[in-house]
This record gives sequence, structure tokens and C-alpha cells, in this order.
Amino acid sequence: MQKPDRYAVFGHPIGHSKSPRIHALFAEQTGHNIHYAAQDVPGIQFDAAVSEFVSSGGKGLNCTVPLKQLAFQRADRRSERAERSRAVNTLTVRDDGMLDGDNTDGIGLIRDLTTHLGIGLRGSSILLLGAGGASRGIIGPLLAECPARLVIANRTPEKAIQLGNEFSRFGPINACSFNELTRHRFDLVINATAASLHNQLPPLPDGLLAPGACCYDLAYANEPTAFLLWGQRQNAARSVDGIGMLVEQAAEAFFIWRGVRPETRPVIELLNAERRCKWQS
Ligand code: NDP
Repeated sequence: MQKPDRYAVFGHPIGHSKSPRIHALFAEQTGHNIHYAAQDVPGIQFDAAVSEFVSSGGKGLNCTVPLKQLAFQRADRRSERAERSRAVNTLTVRDDGMLDGDNTDGIGLIRDLTTHLGIGLRGSSILLLGAGGASRGIIGPLLAECPARLVIANRTPEKAIQLGNEFSRFGPINACSFNELTRHRFDLVINATAASLHNQLPPLPDGLLAPGACCYDLAYANEPTAFLLWGQRQNAARSVDGIGMLVEQAAEAFFIWRGVRPETRPVIELLNAERRCKWQS
């Protein structure tokens, strides 16, 4: 049997990553012979680790926290969505050794929200918490869905304002600090801060949610995150974590690398069945 094509996810920390399992399920489902590993790579080692991966015949990489901006810089060519977000989560090694950079986070989130969760974004009022690499990847795709407004709030407000300025030509976007969040109610609140990773919650005022609102945490865990519990306390119609987005962004990366789009629903269902909880309402 031929040796499998090699792929990997680089990040720091990386121990919690479900990406190797997801890509193994995609490979099994599509009959593709691949091996996908997780590798702990701090930012300072990123360039050397990429060079070693490429020279040893690796075919493609995913890059996660805190490497997406470094991956953007390292890519030799970048897709339009990568250029727009200035963050790369998918690198493809071309035959000549050059690296193509793409960002599949945004499409992953949109597919989870619209296809799996049935949330209509057109005309809705959306609050995005956080102004890091993940927010950069999802703002453009969110604005492309034509919401009535998108507000970004961040602990360091200057970063939110910078993102607001960068993306203002793509749609109705405003930026503010957490304690300025009192004027509007939102149909969808997306937590793209890293607070959940430390079991923390951004300082959010009461009364942010419109009737029927959904809370969506990009982070995922076997237990509800602090943000999902906040959503429950605020009577959100639904509070959902980012496992669906994770599977969808991985499926898009698999498609880029292998030319085949795996079915995501059975993979999401399997991962959810393997955890103790996913939905709260
Ligand atoms: P970054 O490190 O680039 O950005 C972190 C952001 O979180 C910054 O805006 C930072 O604010 C804010 N933040 C960090 N700690 C706190 C806190 N205690 N309270 C309030 N704000 C805080 O991370 P990413 O953007 O790459 O990732 C963010 C989250 O999204 C992570 O949980 C990650 O796992 C998740 N993610 C999930 C994906 C999925 O497929 N489900 C895909 C991509 C990301 P400041 O600017 O003030 O420092």
C-alpha cells in the first residue's frame, strides 16, 4: 500500500485539538489515504517547523492559535478571503514547494449557522466579541450575509476599532468596548474571544439579547463554556458552541487539499454523541 499523504495542525497549545480525529473521519468516509497529526509549535518555532514539514514531504497544514498571522506572512500566495482577513488557517504545499494560504474559518462558521442551525443572518443584528485572529476570519463572511448591523466589542477597544475601520467598506460595522454595549439588542451574539479557554467570561451587561436570540461560542469543550452558561441565564433561545464550525472549517480545508467535500453532518453528530453536552436551551 502507498504511504499516506501527510497533513498536520500546528498550534500552541495543541493537546485539546479534535482536528486529527475529524480528518481521520473524513479520510475514512471518502476513502482517501492520509495521515493527519497535531504538533505543538510555539510561534518562535513556526518558520522552522513549516520548513521541516515541507522538506519532509508534507502536503498541507492547518494553523491555529497563535499562529494564524504568522501563517499569513509565511504563505507565498494567498486567497482573497485570506488577504481580506490577514489570517491564514490552511496552508497547501504546491509541487514546487511554495505555500498557498487560505482562511476557512469564516465559511465554517457561516455553514454551521445557516445550514446546521438554520439561523437567518440577513437583516439581523449581530454582536461579535473579540478582535483576534478568529474575528478577522469571520467578519468578511458575516458582512457578506447582509446583516442589519455588526458590532464588534473587544477588551482592548482600539483593536475592535481598527477591525471596524478595515472592514467598513464591506458592510454596516461599528466597534466599541464592552462597557459601551448598552444601546442595542442583538439577534446573535458570537463569542470569538479566547476567554472560554480560561473558563472566563467577557464583562457583558444584562439585556443584550433580543427575543429569540442565539449565543454562539467559537470555543468548544466537553462542558458548557462560561459564555454558554451566560446565554442560558440571559434566556437565549439557543446557546451553541463551535464544534460545528470546527468540522465545517476542516471540511473546507479537506476540499482544498483533496478536491472532495466530505459530509459534515454525520461527523458533527458523532463528535456530539462523544461529548456529554452540546445544546442548551
Ligand atoms: P486570539 O488570541 O487571536 O484573540 C483572542 C481575543 O480574545 C482577543 O480579542 C482578546 O482581547 C480576547 N480575550 C482573551 N482573553 C480574554 C478575556 N479573559 N476576556 C475578554 N477577552 C479576552 O485568538 P483567536 O481569535 O484565534 O481565537 C479566539 C477563540 O476562537 C478561541 O477560543 C479559539 O479556540 C476559537 N476558535 C474556534 C474555531 C472553531 O472552528 N470553532 C476556529 C478559530 C478559533 P484583547 O485584544 O484585549 O487581548
